[in-house]
Order: sequence, then C-alpha cells, then structure tokens
Amino acid sequence: MPTPRLRFAPSPTGYLHVGGARTALFNWLYARRHGGQFLLRVEDTDKARSTDESTRAIFEGLQWLGLGWDEEVVYQGSNVARHGADAERMVASGHAYRCFCSAFELDARRKQAEAAEGAFKYDRRCDRLDAAEVARRVAAGEPSVIRFRVPEGSTGWTDLVHGDISFPNKDIEDFVILRSDGTPIYNLAVTSDDIAMRITLVMRGDDHVSNTPKQILLYRALGAELPQFAHLPMIHGTDGKKLSKRHGATAVADWQHEGILPQAMVNFLALLGWSPGGEFNEVMRIDELVAVFAADGLLRKASVFDPKKLEWMNGQHLMTMALGDLAPLVGRKIAAAGLMREIELGRRHEWFLRLLDLLRVRARTVDDIVRLARPFLAATVTYDEAAVAKAWKEIPETRALLAAVHDALTACAPWEAEPLEVALKTLAEARGLGTGKVFGPMRVALTGESNSPGMFDVLMVLGRETALARLTAAISELDRRTL
Ligand code: GLU
Repeated sequence: MPTPRLRFAPSPTGYLHVGGARTALFNWLYARRHGGQFLLRVEDTDKARSTDESTRAIFEGLQWLGLGWDEEVVYQGSNVARHGADAERMVASGHAYRCFCSAFELDARRKQAEAAEGAFKYDRRCDRLDAAEVARRVAAGEPSVIRFRVPEGSTGWTDLVHGDISFPNKDIEDFVILRSDGTPIYNLAVTSDDIAMRITLVMRGDDHVSNTPKQILLYRALGAELPQFAHLPMIHGTDGKKLSKRHGATAVADWQHEGILPQAMVNFLALLGWSPGGEFNEVMRIDELVAVFAADGLLRKASVFDPKKLEWMNGQHLMTMALGDLAPLVGRKIAAAGLMREIELGRRHEWFLRLLDLLRVRARTVDDIVRLARPFLAATVTYDEAAVAKAWKEIPETRALLAAVHDALTACAPWEAEPLEVALKTLAEARGLGTGKVFGPMRVALTGESNSPGMFDVLMVLGRETALARLTAAISELDRRTL
C-alpha cells in the first residue's frame, strides 16, 4: 500500500464555510491517521470569481482549526500548461478530438433538438472530420475546443461512503475538456492535478458524484491509476434543508468571532457525517479523533448542523481545556471590550485564572465568559434593574441588612471562605433569615446581577477591599433610591 495522499481543493470564491471545513477536516484526519499527506490545492482557474481575499480566508480558517498542510500549496491556475498538454495527449492517443462547432451553432441545435425530441447530446459531427481537414482548419486559425470521446459501456467505482456507483456512458455526452482559449474545463483540471499530485483518495462533497465518471474516464485515457473516492453527504440545517445563509452563520470565521473554540469546532465538524461507532464519548480532542478516525465510520445520510450542539460542545471544551490556554483568548476579548488592559490582566494572572475557572462552568462561549467577567473587572457595579426589583424589594430592610453584612464582613479575618461563611451564617441566624435571603441582596450589591458564581467565591475573587466598597456603594444607592 502506498502512503495515502489526500487533498482539500477549495475554489477561492468565498469564505471557508462549514461544509468545506468538514471536507478539509476529514481529509486531514484520514491522512494523519494513516501516516499520509494532506495537501492543499487552490482551484483558482475561474479568474473572474477567484479572489486573493478568499484564498487568505481559507488559509486562515484552516490554520485556526489546526489543519496544517504538507508540501507547498498548489495553485491550479499555474498548471494550465500541463492541462493543455494532457488534452493534446488525449487527442494524439485518440481519446479526444478537436471540435469546431461554435457556441452559437450548438445553441441553435440544442433548441431544435429540445423542440423535437426533448434532450440534446452533442452529435459528434467533428469526430468524423478527417485529419487533413482538422489540420487545415487549425492552420487557418479557426477556433476549436477539445472534446473527450466517451467510450461505450458504463463507468463505476466503489465509493468509500456510498458503495458501488455506476453510470451508463450513453448518458454522458462527449464533454469539452479544453476551451478554445486553451484553458481547461473543471474536470480536466481536477484530474490532471490529482494525477500530478499522486492523490490516492479523493474525498469531497457528494455534489461531485456526477463529475466522478467523467474524471474516471480521463484517468483511464491518460493511463493513470485510479484513486479511491469518498463522497461526503450534504450538511443540512435543523429544518432538514440544505445548509445555507438562511440558517445563520455558515462561515467558520463567523463562529470564531462568536467565541467558539477551534477544538470545539473541530470536534463538532468531525461528528457531521462520521461516527467512531458503538458507545462513545462525543467530546474528543483532535489527537483523540486522529487515533480513531476511519473511513468505515463515514455515514451515508445527510448530517444536521445544529448550532445549539456546537455551543454545548464548546462549553464542554471550555470546561476541560488548560486555563493557561483559555486566558489569552478571553483576555484579548476583555481588552477589546475595554474592560481591562491585557497588561493588567497579566499582572493579576493568578487572580485571572481563578476567575476564569469560576466562570467557565457557567459559560458556553468565550463571549459568555467575557460577559460574566464584567462585574469583576469594572471599577464600579452597574445594577441590573430586573435584579434590583427582585432582590432589593423592601428598601429600608435591604439597607439595614447590607449595613449589617458590611459590619460583619469588616470584622471578619482572615478574608477566607471559612471565616466568611461563619460570619454570614451567624448574621443570618441572628436576623431569623435563611442564607438565600441574605445572599440575594448581597449578590446584587456585589455584582449588580442576580446570577453569579457562589457567594464565597464572589467574595474571594473580589477581595476584601472591593467587596466592602461595593457594599458601601450599594447602601448609598439604596439611600438615593429612597429619596
Ligand atoms: N473545487 C471544488 C469545490 O470547491 C472541489 C473539487 C474536488 O474536490 O474535486 O467544490
């Protein structure tokens, strides 16, 4: 068995979307699992639609996901000389022929055929021209394309996803492989490049199934060994329709900006159309995926892109990743939101890690963490009015309670969970209140919100000085509200 060589071959006409990323990932996983190579080919032969910006976005998307490629990137557009030579070689070997029928003539014949019997198929009239005439017309500068001469019979392969697939050749017309300007048609470019790159397994979306018989015919005509093929089923939205912009974010970069972690995205994409089989833990790191990825786990039916599952997956990875890796991700967003500068977060590194550890269990995305971190980073508290209405209903009572809490905590030393707990329990008992009735108003005073990590964690992370200052500020706020 030769070492597997796989490729991802995006057309740089847009962003890296989740379908493309899934194809890239499966190719990458297969190559890594089997000790092979994963190559990248930019299919930029459509000059009108290809952009450098899109090429860059594809590179960045793959790099963000951690899908590094081996060998230099291949740009299809720089191989047009080989594509042309391959077409000429097929003319010389009798597998293809020059066709002088103009687009205008073909169009007229198509219309006529469709009116008479329904379908139009090229009638091979140029295949009947003799060599001398062809040479004369070429020499006279008459434009021509090169068409592949489709043989009799049928063309099939054993797809790694779908099993045996076969197409009768009579349904395939003698297709053009080279335009009159010498540029290749898609199927020739792909086949010529896959042969040159010594690709052993072509894994791509099943929207390409209908191209595969044509490509197989070209492999044979060029005397090349066939690769294996695996056609991955479509990805649908939760409504069962083909995934599109209507379903929300479909670009990988959009999810990156929403605070999704690359490892969660990889894990999520891996399970779109593949399963390790049997009972398995869905949450997997990329190295764990590499260890179990196999073609027999590729699924035939369309998979569903469920953003809720992606967020859940993200929460799982947030919870288990190294805090040291999480800190810069959150730090950057905190700085961008103007909550605290990265240099300051660096100075308070240990404190910041403790805060992250408290918040990440309550978050599904990096952005959730940033939102939850706000009360711990801001100089003053912003009171959420709904939380105030609920927890500070009786103003005089609340004021008295918070004043008593302030005094009890002032007397509390050292500022550690245990003495703090004793102090607050004693206070609650003395006032005939359950701790919930004490913590609710306190939580709003300390964070401005009705949801936060546990009270003692909040007190510890805020520290003595800030916690006491916030209780004092809350008392003033209540006084202001009485007026
Ligand atoms: N460039 C094609 C696409 O983006 C892929 C071709 C292939 O994988 O064979 O759909």
